[in-house]
Amino acid sequence: MTELCRCWSCKGNLEPAQQLRFLVETDNLDNPAYLARIRALPAVNGRPVPVCKACQTRIESAPRRPVAKPKPAAVSGLLGALGALSVGLLISGIFAPRG
Ligand SMILES: [Zn+2]
Repeated sequence: MTELCRCWSCKGNLEPAQQLRFLVETDNLDNPAYLARIRALPAVNGRPVPVCKACQTRIESAPRRPVAKPKPAAVSGLLGALGALSVGLLISGIFAPRG
């Protein structure tokens, strides 16, 4: 039972309220409709993780997914191809035999 008293994130002491939430949520894993109503804790692989109030606030304020830079590979590839093409045209224009 000792691990239930520890925060999953910071290993600090878990508040009794958070401990109770964890126990209740774990107890209702086979009852998704009810669980969805009462769910308060963050979940990993669908299972609630016991975290203290401070860590829960921190987790909830953090972005859910890492924000990827909006730069699709296809677009940058196309721009690169266009760049190479224009450079190629420029060079061929300079070195093209005249007359
Ligand atoms: Zn914590």
